[in-house]
Amino acid sequence: MKIGVRRSQYFLPTLREEPAEASIVSHRLMLRAGLIRQASAGLYNWLPLGFRVLKKIESIVRAEQDRIGAHECLMPTIQSAELWKKSGRYDDYGKEMLRITDRHGAPLLYGPTNEEAITQLFADTVKSYKDLPSRLYHMQWKFRDEIRPRFGVMRAREFYMKDAYSFDADEERGMASYRAMAVSYLRLFERMGLTAVPMRAETGPIGGDNSHEFVVLAETGESAVYCDRTLLEQRWRDASGNDAKAHADIFARATSCYAATDEEHDADRFAREVPAARRVETRGIEVGHVFFFADKYSRPLEARVATQQGDNIPVAMGSYGVGISRLVAAAIEASHDADGIVWHDSIAPFSVGLVSLALDEQGRGKADKLYESLCREGIETLYDDRLDARAGVKLKDMDLVGLPWQITLGDKNPKDSVLLKRRCGNKKQTLPLDKALAKVRESLKRTRTHDPVFD
Ligand code: ATP
Ligand code: MG
Repeated sequence: MKIGVRRSQYFLPTLREEPAEASIVSHRLMLRAGLIRQASAGLYNWLPLGFRVLKKIESIVRAEQDRIGAHECLMPTIQSAELWKKSGRYDDYGKEMLRITDRHGAPLLYGPTNEEAITQLFADTVKSYKDLPSRLYHMQWKFRDEIRPRFGVMRAREFYMKDAYSFDADEERGMASYRAMAVSYLRLFERMGLTAVPMRAETGPIGGDNSHEFVVLAETGESAVYCDRTLLEQRWRDASGNDAKAHADIFARATSCYAATDEEHDADRFAREVPAARRVETRGIEVGHVFFFADKYSRPLEARVATQQGDNIPVAMGSYGVGISRLVAAAIEASHDADGIVWHDSIAPFSVGLVSLALDEQGRGKADKLYESLCREGIETLYDDRLDARAGVKLKDMDLVGLPWQITLGDKNPKDSVLLKRRCGNKKQTLPLDKALAKVRESLKRTRTHDPVFD
């Protein structure tokens, strides 16, 4: 990703007016801050600034999936209808599936999810228990012809998802994969600065008790949710261990108090088990979903392995989704103020917004030099170097765009000092340049820290 850009040369169409078509704050701010533009109903263009956020989220998801031993691959967006007929879902999926016919008359579809496709890949490739467990994921666009696409990328027709799939020799090991994924999710949402609570969720026709939705609490969320406040105070990122035992402990803690989505909510039990002061009844945004469904797909699609005893059994599978494009909107719902977006450091499109208010050659030269040195240091910087924008417009735009740090260089500052603003909390300080940079560096060091992943 490009380290720095000059606003005068960037594609960043911010809007002063409230867009009439947007009813929730994240949608309004994504349009106003120049992150997205609608292409047609439920289909969005990701503009350069929005695309950077998408990539930031993607890389956090990738790091935390890699950490639990999942491997990244990439499957096509277009799938064969034949496969879905074998699993029985071709007819069941209904109108949400976009069905296509190729020039030879073969029925295809734009994938809404990939259970069938990956099960086939697995069936063609893996034959023995010795190759298990296996955890694969990809990040790919999905299409679901939602009856009511709305709220921008929150409920779109085309959206970007990380979907992972686990393959194990039996249900017990399959559940270990399920718990590993859930822990990976707790960590990745926390790294993004989000509190996403795992909630018991409807399992639908699949049955069993093994489905959790990860829900970010927000008044504008589409589903009613109930949880114990204790869950909002837990921290997972540094919870120790990355083995089955550690995952089981963390999973048990994360699911010990009562939290459920509307469909699974048991009002009597909630009142009985959660003290009144700790009951949270609000709305939420589903940002992830984990599912263990054993042999639902491996049986019809013949994904079988030979066991140590010589039997031939269908593998035990789970699937695990994260709505990457939805997360951009969810993060804004969770963190904004009256002036605009307030990005968490880890997913901000740039770390620093550098504003030059000086119009004379000397002042501009100073700002240019600072911009270049920030870039050389690897600090991602959006540099508002425009000569044709008024100071007020530049500062308002920076607040709207919501980068974690703003450095303003202007005529009014004492010599060699700058105005440093932390967007979260809007605290401003006039500081000597080196002191200001030291603060920025210190905070970047904290977000950058992550363990290397290898196995
Ligand atoms: P929802 O209940 O919101 O319709 P879902 O249960 O159908 O979602 P899953 O099949 O579990 O969705 O997909 C995994 C993740 O993909 C969801 O947790 C969500 O974050 C994201 N997602 C699903 N549908 C959409 C959509 N139309 N637009 C954006 N993101 C979506
Ligand atoms: Mg779901």
